[in-house]
Amino acid sequence: MNPFENFCTQLNNVKKYFPEKDHTYIEILKYPQRVVEVCLPLRMDDKTIKIYTGYRVQHSDIRGPTKGGIRFHPRVNLDEVKALAAWMTMKTAVMNLPFGGAKGGIAVNPAELSEGELERLSRRYATAIAPVIGPEKDIPAPDVYTNPKIMAWMTDTYSMMQGRTIHGVFTGKPMEFGGSHGRLEATARGLFLCIIHACERLGVSINNTKAAIQGYGNAGAYSHKFLQEAGSCVIAVSDSKGAIMDEKGLDVQKVLDHKTKSQKRSVIGFPGSKTITNEQLLELNVDILVPAALENVVTSKNAKGIRASIVAEAANGPCTPEADDILHKKNIAIIPDILANAGGVTVSYFEWVQNRNGDHWSEEYVNEKLASWMKAAFDMVWKMKEENKIDMRTAAGIVAIKRLVKSYEFRGIWP
Ligand code: NAD
Repeated sequence: MNPFENFCTQLNNVKKYFPEKDHTYIEILKYPQRVVEVCLPLRMDDKTIKIYTGYRVQHSDIRGPTKGGIRFHPRVNLDEVKALAAWMTMKTAVMNLPFGGAKGGIAVNPAELSEGELERLSRRYATAIAPVIGPEKDIPAPDVYTNPKIMAWMTDTYSMMQGRTIHGVFTGKPMEFGGSHGRLEATARGLFLCIIHACERLGVSINNTKAAIQGYGNAGAYSHKFLQEAGSCVIAVSDSKGAIMDEKGLDVQKVLDHKTKSQKRSVIGFPGSKTITNEQLLELNVDILVPAALENVVTSKNAKGIRASIVAEAANGPCTPEADDILHKKNIAIIPDILANAGGVTVSYFEWVQNRNGDHWSEEYVNEKLASWMKAAFDMVWKMKEENKIDMRTAAGIVAIKRLVKSYEFRGIWP
């Protein structure tokens, strides 16, 4: 299950909706524009040196500077980063942001590093990719196991190298250092808005729903908060250590407090809950399933067992193309990643605009703007789906590719 091959399959599914003359442009998207692999020697606290490998893939800048997060995870590899970068190109196009797509990562388990080691590795990575990033070239942001503090270290490193403070090179920074209101919860807020729009269209009342969420980090935990506030009963959540379930519903603040205080830093052991596996969580009898961890969790093996009527992809690439086919046959509505989790990059764009203008927007303004951009994108994807009688992933793909093809047509293939 190579995620980049999954991306290419998704692209092929969209290609048939375009005339022959556009096919070459679509084929170009199967090749990342630039792939950078970097060697990262790290001095450990005990003075030994360990060597890590990092990546930055700039998939396409046909619509603007490339944009996409940085992942620290032991499973990071080039095919994963290529896929994540390509999905960013599609996502920024669905949202009509003036960006292309990129992604980066280091194959490392950050939980095994001390705070000092993590800082040195982050700074070394920022130095290694400095020649190819910049506010007008490529603007990274947080992803799995990276956060605002790491973005601050990286922004500082890049600024030191340039001899001046440059806020606009990374987004997802802390509020006190060029960050934007609303960025922390933006991915989940965007996801929640998509769920609400989908419920309206499908005639589902959100406060009668049950939900399960896989992954309890930035995307997952805030999704729990928004769903709970809207009256949905979140009966199961999980992290890398396992899943918990309580038919009566789990309270977000209590679960977060437990996770912070517990020795394992996990949701596991939450009082009153039953421990289940991450795999079991996916197949629970819920209305809304939110995969908010990693790729390839819903596959041809378990798709038949999915019982939710809405799968809202907070994670990138959680459903394989084979799983998609099975879920569609079961009439399950998948809100695809390139739309469902696009709130994060949209508020990252707002942060970048504020940084470049030396401006500072209120939380209310950011959230209103995000809501109107998400609604516009959702409406456009839904209309495409209805007009062509297709699923939402194909519809979102068509919306994105139409914009990408237009850019190729106007810019031409140089020379
Ligand atoms: P995070 O580091 O904040 O949280 C990741 C969570 O996933 C943690 O709770 C971790 O324990 C859990 N996890 C890891 N491996 C797991 C496994 N095998 N099974 C179950 N849970 C597991 O990361 P995040 O920023 O919330 O990102 C989660 C997903 O959302 C990723 O796919 C990411 O690409 C996507 N996403 C994030 C953003 C963003 O702004 N942070 C934006 C768009 C998409």
